[in-house]
Amino acid sequence: MPEQPSNQPPADRSDRSSGSDRSSRSTSGDRHRRLRPSGGYRQLRSFQVATLVYDGTVDFCERFVDRASRTRDQMVQAARSGRQNIAEGSRAAATTSQTELRLVNVARASLDELLLDYEDFLRQRKLRAWAKNDREALEVRAMGRALDQSDLSDHSDPAVHWKLYSRWLEHPSPEIVANTLICLIHQTNYLLDQQVSALERDFVQDGGYSEQLAAARIEHRRKQNEAGQPAPAPHCPLCKKPMALRTARKGKQAGSQFWGCSGFPECKGTRPLDG
Ligand SMILES: [Zn+2]
Repeated sequence: MPEQPSNQPPADRSDRSSGSDRSSRSTSGDRHRRLRPSGGYRQLRSFQVATLVYDGTVDFCERFVDRASRTRDQMVQAARSGRQNIAEGSRAAATTSQTELRLVNVARASLDELLLDYEDFLRQRKLRAWAKNDREALEVRAMGRALDQSDLSDHSDPAVHWKLYSRWLEHPSPEIVANTLICLIHQTNYLLDQQVSALERDFVQDGGYSEQLAAARIEHRRKQNEAGQPAPAPHCPLCKKPMALRTARKGKQAGSQFWGCSGFPECKGTRPLDG
C-alpha cells in the first residue's frame, strides 16, 4: 500500500460538485488559484475511469473474494486510493504542481498494486488472462475509445458510466469481471501517464508554483517603483538618526505624509516627503 498523504480528507462526500470546493476555499487559496487554476476533477477522464475501477472492485470483492481474506481489504483500499488521489491531485493544482505530481503518482502506484492483485486472482484460480489483443479486450477498449470521443459531461455521472460497462462488470463469471477491471486499470494508468507528462511539461515551461509566485512578486514591485515608490528613508537633519514615514495628525498639513525622526519625541527633526 503506498503511503497516503497525511492531509487527505476523511471522505469524498464532503464536496458535492466540482464547483463546490472552489467557494469554500480560503482567501489564500483564491490567490493561488489565480496563478494556477485547477479543480473540476469530475470532468477528468482518469477520475471517471478510476471511479469505475473503484466501484467495480467493491462489487468484485463482494461477489468473488473471501470476506476473511486480507487481500479483499487491500484491493478495495488500493482502488479507493487510486481514485481519491486523482481528485486530491487535481485540487492541489491550485497550490503546487509538485503536490499535484506527487498525488498523481500515488494514484498510479495504488492502481499498479490493484492490477497485480487481479493478475494474481486469475493465475491462482487457473483462470484465463486476456491477452492485449484478444477479442474481449478489444471490445472493452473500444468502449473506452468511443467514450473518449464523446461529450465528457455525458459520463461524469458514475451511474451512467457504470451502465455502459455493466454487461462485463456484472457478469457472473469472475474471469470476465477481473479481466475487464484489468483493462480499465490499464486505461486509467494510460490517462494518468498523460497527465504526468503534461504536468512535467508545464513545470518546465512555467516553473513550479513558488517560481510563479516569485515572478508575480517581482512584477508587482516593478510596477510600484514605476508608480513612484518613496526613496529609502533619509537621515534626520538634526541628529542623523534614520527617519520614518509619518502622517500629520493636525494643522493645515493633516493627513499628508512627511519624514519624522525615529528619535521622536526627544528629537523633533522632520523632512518633507519629496525633499
Ligand atoms: Zn533627529
